[in-house]
Amino acid sequence: MNDNQLLRYSRHILMDDIGIEGQEKILAAHVLIIGAGGLGSPAALYLASAGVGTITLVDNDTVDLTNLQRQIMHDTERVGLPKAESGKAMLARINPDVRVIALQERLEGARLDELVAQADVVLDCSDNFATRHAVNRACVEHRVPLVSGAAIQLDGQVSVFDPRREDAPCYGCLFPPEQAFEDVQCSLMGVFSPLVGIIGAMQAAEALKLIVQLGQSLAGRLLLLDARTMEWTSIKVPRNPDCSVCGAKH
Ligand SMILES: [Zn+2]
Repeated sequence: MNDNQLLRYSRHILMDDIGIEGQEKILAAHVLIIGAGGLGSPAALYLASAGVGTITLVDNDTVDLTNLQRQIMHDTERVGLPKAESGKAMLARINPDVRVIALQERLEGARLDELVAQADVVLDCSDNFATRHAVNRACVEHRVPLVSGAAIQLDGQVSVFDPRREDAPCYGCLFPPEQAFEDVQCSLMGVFSPLVGIIGAMQAAEALKLIVQLGQSLAGRLLLLDARTMEWTSIKVPRNPDCSVCGAKH
């Protein structure tokens, strides 16, 4: 680290749980963020400010006026631009050290596999089950930890699925891909603006903890937030030996 970096990251370096060694792990890390919307915005902003060396930011959408109520990585001037590009510009302003790869595409198939395999941690900040299941399958396949978040109206949830751990469930253990879960999207149901900030920031926190190998991750636990009462519920999620994604393989 140069003098500038020692200053920029000094409040991490001062921490016993991170220190120089932990910050160097952060600087060397590659995080894949799928979705540059409500969850992806705060997650990417914190990961960039914290100094994650490479961030691949994927979103096939463009910035819409209705996004700006909560998608804090974008601003009024960027309406109409690709979210990935808009996000890249914002992250560069916060921390020019970070290499941001902006991809305006819908990730699937071999392309998704390729990008997941390159990442140290994947953040699922998408808004639909098809993407979540595809991302989970790729993370199980390549044994890359997945930090998953979701928010609708006043309900949020966050968890970590870590296929490197024999005892930890995958996303499919919790939400079997064979079962038809209905997508409930913000565009129809609405979402409370700061709720996505809370959940997205927690995703960034879990990603940094995994990178630094700090504390205990949310693997095996699902946190549910009811923002009406601001109460968190922690649910233990066991691994399902019959899971169609991770069950037969391991
Ligand atoms: Zn599973």
